[in-house]
Amino acid sequence: MTTTTNLPETMTASVLTGVKALAVQEMPLPPVADDEVLMRIAAIGVCGSDTHYYRHGRIGDFVVDGPLILGHECSGTIVAVGSDVPDTRVGERVAIEPQRNCRRCRECRAGRYNLCPNMEFYATPPIDGAFAEYAVIRSEFAHPVPDSLSDEAAALLEPLSVAITTMRKAGIVPGSSILIAGAGPIGIICAQTAKAFGAAEIIVTDLVAERRERAVHYGATRTIDPREVDIASAGLDVNAFVDASGSPRAVFDGIKAVRPAGTAVLVGLGSPEMNLPIEHIQNLEITVTGIFRYTDTWPAAIHLVASGQVDLDSLVTGRFDLDHAAAALESDADPDSLKSIVYPTTAQHG
Ligand SMILES: [Zn+2]
Ligand SMILES: [Zn+2]
Repeated sequence: MTTTTNLPETMTASVLTGVKALAVQEMPLPPVADDEVLMRIAAIGVCGSDTHYYRHGRIGDFVVDGPLILGHECSGTIVAVGSDVPDTRVGERVAIEPQRNCRRCRECRAGRYNLCPNMEFYATPPIDGAFAEYAVIRSEFAHPVPDSLSDEAAALLEPLSVAITTMRKAGIVPGSSILIAGAGPIGIICAQTAKAFGAAEIIVTDLVAERRERAVHYGATRTIDPREVDIASAGLDVNAFVDASGSPRAVFDGIKAVRPAGTAVLVGLGSPEMNLPIEHIQNLEITVTGIFRYTDTWPAAIHLVASGQVDLDSLVTGRFDLDHAAAALESDADPDSLKSIVYPTTAQHG
């Protein structure tokens, strides 16, 4: 292993020890495998999935049954590399694609490693995430970022990757029309990404007026309060519908707004079972799909931010240290909050 300077023996991390129980702990640095790099974490975005694990101890079949470090949206600087990694990488600023696939299974060989059944993903039990001073990742998933990207923007390339995957699945090309349900962080990043992909019409629905206004700032060409307009019968006739709300009603109505041969992409975490407008799907040959993480999106994400087409910095509405990770995880209760960032510092360590 090649390192920069002398690394400390231990690091500070915020550890989920039970439902709504976080403890700041001192622990050994993670071991660095031959094909991995060790990063000093710079900034970590708080994601809805982190909050879900914190509040409920599980997401579907993924159950937290031991101590777990949350956080999977992160940036950092490489401070050590394994023996298979060129030591010239030490010192690079990187954005972390927080997954480790097996490279051998059918899905990996087919080029869709996001569906690898052997995937080890940050902050998904039992794999630790990045609410910590240091973390490891396989070398090719530590993506170098230009100096023009802030630490926060580099961390938020992860949710941008979700939006890029969504636009690819939705088939958004120049001139497309898209309906997005939900103006939370993913809905807002999807609106920006749809614009960057050339969408001509970007309709965003949300129940909250302030959130609809924010969507306009981030690329929506029209916003709708779904209590005032019946989305299902309003004749929106869009190429694609993206659900970023998880609301069964939004999904049902949004699919009905899709034109023949269009696509609906379900991104929001909602109830595991929903009613769907089957006749509309059958008669209009609508493709309904989900997305699960991402494959090969960081290069596109870096380009969209570095070229100014997507603005991630202004999404940040709160900043917390490791001592206040719980407050960061609960910040989504505040309607003005959009994206919270955790810094791997503590009151003691500064
Ligand atoms: Zn995320
Ligand atoms: Zn695999």
